[in-house]
Amino acid sequence: MTIREQLQAAQEAAWLNPEKIKVAEREKICGHGFVEVKAAQNRFMRFLPFIRRRFPETEDRKGVIESRLLVIPEMTAWLKENGAAVSGRILLKDDAHLPVAGSVKARGGIHEVLKIAEQLAFKAKILHPTDKYDKLDSEEFRQFYSRYTIQVGSTGNLGLSIGIMGASLGFRVIVHMSREAKEWKKELLREKGVIVLEYDGDYSHAVAEGRNNSAKDPNSFFIDDENSEDLFFGYATAGMRLKMQLYKAGVSVDRDHPLFVYLPCGVGGAPGGITYGLKQMFGDNVHCFFVEPVQDPCMLLGMSSGKYEEISVEEIGLGGQTAADGLTVGRPSAFVSKMMRPLLSGCFTVKDEHLLTWMKTMYEKEHLFLEPSACAGFQGLLQIENPDSICREYLEKNQLTEKMPDAAHIVWATGGGLVPTTEQTHLLSL
Ligand SMILES: *Cc1c(COP(=O)(O)O)cnc(C)c1O
Repeated sequence: MTIREQLQAAQEAAWLNPEKIKVAEREKICGHGFVEVKAAQNRFMRFLPFIRRRFPETEDRKGVIESRLLVIPEMTAWLKENGAAVSGRILLKDDAHLPVAGSVKARGGIHEVLKIAEQLAFKAKILHPTDKYDKLDSEEFRQFYSRYTIQVGSTGNLGLSIGIMGASLGFRVIVHMSREAKEWKKELLREKGVIVLEYDGDYSHAVAEGRNNSAKDPNSFFIDDENSEDLFFGYATAGMRLKMQLYKAGVSVDRDHPLFVYLPCGVGGAPGGITYGLKQMFGDNVHCFFVEPVQDPCMLLGMSSGKYEEISVEEIGLGGQTAADGLTVGRPSAFVSKMMRPLLSGCFTVKDEHLLTWMKTMYEKEHLFLEPSACAGFQGLLQIENPDSICREYLEKNQLTEKMPDAAHIVWATGGGLVPTTEQTHLLSL
């Protein structure tokens, strides 16, 4: 079966990227991009006093929006009892519990809102980069920002991150929600004064509505998840942060200690930005894989066909129901899918039933609630050393087979931290 036929049959599929190149010569992805990532990192630093004051849950980390890198011994034991062939160390990056937004979107979405806020204030000469930014938590600044609108199209979580941060600064925020967006996310945003517009259309439709609506208003900024560099570089700051965490945890990443990272993928911004940041830090020693639901393999389809954003999953008869609402995207980001061409190792698809099993098991064994989308990374972990998977080719070709006992694996858990208890109970009962 060709990869396209496997996707069409909604089977769990694996695809290796034939265009991945060696990036050992670091400048290939440093240069311009490195400056951008560093600038995003510095921007987050300047905003620390504001975030710390406005979001008390960040007090103990001085306003840093970062998540923990966890070992998951009980889940690891369960996976192995159930046949997982993984020989190295298993870690989980708990972005589900990133402060403020409870999902990976806290990285990119918040960064772009902060950038808009900063640039408006610089231009109006009411803020200077060396000021202490807690002054932004004031009536004066909220008044100033209330003259501007920020708009975004979302399946839910991006809207949450942008809505929460935008509203906290005083912006008028309009979130255009696609049909899979959960009711509780809309309610939470409305409670915060965010305008939520609902469409009976898919994600691309919601984005298009937002883009059009914003274009009519000169005081409106559109956060474009299909093309935004500011989102992307916000996500990419995860690279430097993770490098520090791995160092502190005593996990080496070098030629003899490869790092494998498994990232749930929707439109591609979050996993793409993180991959970019990790490649800058670790070059060829990091191997990044995306995981998508069998009904929405937009990145796999776009990259494997060479058509990128010009092909949608509907064109091959997919796009049906999935429990992975955060990954319900039919067409990949044009910008990110091309950016990933030389960097991404491969993509997997996964069925809902597995997402739900991992969600329940993580909750039972590790007492960590993750939303279904957030569990997709486990699929990569289970496939990489599976002797029946084409991953074997990848390991051999990259001379990794012998090194696998010394490898580290990171399952990137991307969301679920804000899911209300009643909704958790419902999801756990599925
Ligand atoms: C948005 C999201 C992703 C994927 O991010 P994209 O930028 O859409 O690829 C993964 N997991 C969760 C929980 C998300 O909300």
